Amino acid sequence: MSDSVEQMRTEIARRRTFAIISHPDAGKTTLTERLLRAGGAIQLAGNVRAKGERRRTRSDWMGIERERGISVVTSVMTFEYGGCIFNLLDTPGHEDFSEDTYRTLTAVDSAVMVIDAAKGIEERTRKLFEICRLRDIPIITFINKMDREAQDPFALLDEVGSTLALDTAPATWPVGRAATFVGTYDLRAREMHLTQELAQSDPRLQALGEELELVQGALPEFDRESFDAGALTPVFFGSAMREIGVLDLLDALVSFGPPPRAQATETREVKADEAAMTALVFKIQANMDPNHRDRMAFARICSGRLQRGMRLRHVRTGKQFALHTPQFFFARDRQLAEEAFAGDVVGIPNHGTLRIGDTLTESEDLRFTGVPHFAPEILRRVRLDDAMKAKKLRQALTELAEEGVVQLFRPQDGAPPIVGVVGTLQLDVLQARLAGEYGVAIGFESTPFSLARWVSGDRGRMEAFIAGNRSALADDLDGDPVFLASSAFMMRRTAEANPQLTFVDIKQIG
Ligand code: GDP
Repeated sequence: MSDSVEQMRTEIARRRTFAIISHPDAGKTTLTERLLRAGGAIQLAGNVRAKGERRRTRSDWMGIERERGISVVTSVMTFEYGGCIFNLLDTPGHEDFSEDTYRTLTAVDSAVMVIDAAKGIEERTRKLFEICRLRDIPIITFINKMDREAQDPFALLDEVGSTLALDTAPATWPVGRAATFVGTYDLRAREMHLTQELAQSDPRLQALGEELELVQGALPEFDRESFDAGALTPVFFGSAMREIGVLDLLDALVSFGPPPRAQATETREVKADEAAMTALVFKIQANMDPNHRDRMAFARICSGRLQRGMRLRHVRTGKQFALHTPQFFFARDRQLAEEAFAGDVVGIPNHGTLRIGDTLTESEDLRFTGVPHFAPEILRRVRLDDAMKAKKLRQALTELAEEGVVQLFRPQDGAPPIVGVVGTLQLDVLQARLAGEYGVAIGFESTPFSLARWVSGDRGRMEAFIAGNRSALADDLDGDPVFLASSAFMMRRTAEANPQLTFVDIKQIG
């Protein structure tokens, strides 16, 4: 094996690309800060150039984000710890932004599930967990806020197990509780990690001894294979705020956190350590820099080594794509990426060529699968106040839809465009960005529709269906037909009346 292939494999094997999933307030931001602090923030490839402002752990460039104190933008934070390079993909915190979050989860190899020790499993954690389960993503559980009044650890383990139908194996055990919480006991290494010395007679040690007997007698041990399959989660206890248990978590990611996984394409599975570079675009961000009109495509490298200046194949269009300025993103910072490996995420500036779900390869005709579009739950007609701006609005809506801010449906009967969103916050973001970035003021009007489903079937049947339902049909951004229904009842009736057609609420793109 040549030195460079060996070096590539070593680099790939030490990548840990993960996301944190949690309910708002469970402590994701605090834990992120602690992780970044424990690891050295790094410059990845040799010849890098810093651009932009100081590093932040929260991407907060957008006005609306600042106003609401939420993180709308997905970004990447890279740090080094224990010989590994960690790419932490930030998922938007607000529940309205689920589509973006889902897509981000298609680009990670594992997830850390943060749970508030007093509240247990909350709604959003469960939803995000379900997405991880769909993709068999291994989950590491971090039970946070053990420094406060918390539920009993056995009860918490039970809750994770029963609510999520997931096996749990405690990896550490808390020493002391609430105000007297002083550290963790590592069940595998049989080591104490304490923030202060405890006398042998300390009641916390007595209690620990009794609990450990129960733990070791009654609870499953960590099993690597079940973890890799997403069927078992190791559980860590800690306090992000007081920096207890954070290194337990990082050490676990180093020792058994999964390296870049194989990714499915329409034709074959691509292994991370294949020599040829492949990448998947999972997010588009427009107007990151108000002075430049370019768009940033966030791509996960799925295999091989990326080098700046490569000529790539853009599989959807079949055209060549010259990779002149791939960039690493560190929240607000950017650096030119000279070199990157499977597992890394790079930003690729472009003028709209790259779309969500696109595959880039060195030459092979491959298409990665698994990046979803979800049927919107809210549909609105866009009302334009200044008719002179109709053309501008059309272009702006297309660009923002390509970015994934909203979904755009053009009714086949020529009526004004309809936008679809999964949560109402997306509508506010659309309105703010149209005004701020394109100078177009809009309002929203209700539509007679409340549901959208992608519809497909053989050609003759589709043509007949389209002819008979034109006023309820629209084309999405890719020109695929979407059936709009006024109610779930109508939807069901239509599907029953057309059993040869397929109506779906998730469209795979790519
Ligand atoms: P996020 O919404 O999940 O990002 O949560 P944050 O990290 O912003 O934390 C929410 C609140 O919980 C903040 O007031 C934090 O200071 C607090 N918090 C986070 N971690 C801990 C912890 O380990 N112990 C305690 N007592 N408070 C915490």
